[in-house]
Amino acid sequence: MPPLISHRRLLEPRSFADALKMLRDEGPLVPMAGCTDLYVSLNFGTLKDTRFLNLWRLAALRTIDVRGDLLFIGALATHTDLVRSPIVRKRLPMLASAAREVGGVQIQNRGTIGGNVANASPAGDTLPVLSAADAVVVLKRAGETRRVPFTMFYTGYRETVRRPDELIVAFEIPAIRGKQCFRKVGTRAAQAISKVVMAAIVGDRPRIALGSVGPTVVRATRTEAALAAGASVEEAQRTLLAEIAPIDDIRSTAEYRRRVAANLLALFWNGGARR
Ligand SMILES: Cc1cc2nc3c(=O)[nH]c(=O)nc-3n(C[C@H](O)[C@H](O)[C@H](O)COP(=O)(O)OP(=O)(O)OC[C@H]3O[C@@H](n4cnc5c(N)ncnc54)[C@H](O)[C@@H]3O)c2cc1C
Repeated sequence: MPPLISHRRLLEPRSFADALKMLRDEGPLVPMAGCTDLYVSLNFGTLKDTRFLNLWRLAALRTIDVRGDLLFIGALATHTDLVRSPIVRKRLPMLASAAREVGGVQIQNRGTIGGNVANASPAGDTLPVLSAADAVVVLKRAGETRRVPFTMFYTGYRETVRRPDELIVAFEIPAIRGKQCFRKVGTRAAQAISKVVMAAIVGDRPRIALGSVGPTVVRATRTEAALAAGASVEEAQRTLLAEIAPIDDIRSTAEYRRRVAANLLALFWNGGARR
């Protein structure tokens, strides 16, 4: 049974500094961004927490810009913001492709990149992109900022290094050389959770990240190294199959996921993938 609505409390910070203070002084609080994931768990009664911190109005966390050589994406940028941003489309087109495939239009209008990452589902569509792009997660709590490489952010199934009094404030993404590829394979084009999702950079320094093939998003570092050393696509496919360990679940079988992952690798490296 979900807690009664009258037992829930929503704190409304007026500024980002206010939000950090509330987390420090009035925690534990569950950060709430677009609420598209939270609402589902509230509705199913799987979320027992009763005290929430509403981030939605904190416009300072919605910025998308270029700082020095880094693409800077605020945690509250919605999937629609990502799709529409000329900067994202130019510098990180695979992220715009991923955002375009999240849910449907309503979910894209409310769902945020910070929420997608913090929710920590291994099927989150933006996660392989951030992983392949060597993004850095910027976390803040009152008086402290820290930067965590995206590849070290997840510690296990739905577990992250984020501390309870920290907010994800942004993602910093270095400039990328090479062709960016993204592909989500699900039951249908919209409103479907992925069976396999893959992002890659095809170039001098190959980078490959996959979702839905393990408890967290994974970087296929052995396959990357094989390709960098001049392995053929067929050899790289064999390395990839030895490197991932997907499971059977209600959405797909492990065998199907393995075949799709290998096929996507060939598609990307043979030049057939759309961005
Ligand atoms: C119908 C439907 C379809 C969907 N389809 C897809 C899909 O195709 N692909 C996909 O990847 N996802 C999908 N989702 C999941 C969801 O929409 C996304 O994960 C979305 O990006 C979540 O963002 P949000 O802002 O709504 O997060 P919220 O629901 O507000 O929060 C999610 C989690 O993140 C935490 N959080 C949020 N922001 C921060 C922050 N800045 N700092 C720290 N913690 C934070 C919250 O405490 C919570 O634990 C779907 C959801 C629904 C309901």
